[in-house]
Amino acid sequence: MNSDMFRLKGKNALVTGSHRGLGAAIAVALGRAGANVGCHGRDPKPGIACDEILAAGRKTFYFSADLADCKACSGLIEKTVSEFGSIEILVNNAGVVRRAPAAEYPAEFWDELIAVNLTAVFHLSQLAARHMLDKGTGGKIVNIASLLSFQGGILVPAYAAAKGGVAQLTKALANEWAAKGINVNAIAPGYMATDNTTQLRNDPDRSRQILDRIPAGRWGEPGDIAGAAVFLCSATSDYVHGSQKRWPRVGYFIASWKLENADERASKNFSGLRGGRAQRRQGISPGNRSETPRACLQRQIVSCGT
Ligand code: NAP
Repeated sequence: MNSDMFRLKGKNALVTGSHRGLGAAIAVALGRAGANVGCHGRDPKPGIACDEILAAGRKTFYFSADLADCKACSGLIEKTVSEFGSIEILVNNAGVVRRAPAAEYPAEFWDELIAVNLTAVFHLSQLAARHMLDKGTGGKIVNIASLLSFQGGILVPAYAAAKGGVAQLTKALANEWAAKGINVNAIAPGYMATDNTTQLRNDPDRSRQILDRIPAGRWGEPGDIAGAAVFLCSATSDYVHGSQKRWPRVGYFIASWKLENADERASKNFSGLRGGRAQRRQGISPGNRSETPRACLQRQIVSCGT
């Protein structure tokens, strides 16, 4: 394999929510790999990504739009095509999280999260794909899903529902567009150090619970995800369709092993002492003494979600 397989020279990209956080790191990485990259956020002023893309010798622009309003989607795609002449890469990264107990979860939180985190992903993908299909050159669509595409989390019902929807949408679009040369894939990050997780990182208990489950023992940095995005936007991934890359891969794998082996492992943990010393030794809190072993482990795993 030669290194040109990761080059994005001549490609025109749009990364939503690239004003800061993961999107900014992805936009800069695509620019450094050779693409022209349009940046976007709600903030009226551009973030640092545009400067870094210019410094890499690529073209860029900044477009401010609130994706809670689906009419903003067409303006964003039109701006990319008018600035660059075409769009070959779309990274649907913009996202928001709002936490509250499910019983009190405000309807406006629900509507906002579904609109920004799911509906906009569909509209932007549809609009970008129309350009790609018209040009006949194919393209790459990368959705930023989440570990919570696969788990329910706590206090985040709308976020988990939207990100679960993103995972399904990724597969549905890949099924339709793979044969037409458009790759649709998703990256499902674990716990990354951005504004999105400030509340969790500032809570000593939640932060410790989460760090205990990350094999690397640290929160991911935005740059940790950028290589996966370059891969999925490059020719190297031309035969990859509908996949959801869990990031970090290892962290998720361990969680899924625990789930798949929950009954066997929980039986051992429970042998002879419900809610007793062995569970505490293994870091498993006793919880409700009447709950089944599997439910106890399930609760432990779910508790690592945002
Ligand atoms: P972040 O630091 O909060 O950045 C979010 C970005 O999305 C910002 O650029 C923001 O624009 C933009 N955005 C938010 N709401 C918007 C709206 N209504 N309209 C337009 N743009 C909007 O979050 P992040 O951690 O980088 O998250 C990026 C993506 O990764 C999200 O989809 C998130 O769900 C996903 N993710 C994050 C983690 C994590 O641990 N951080 C884990 C899994 C998945 P402004 O800067 O202008 O406000």
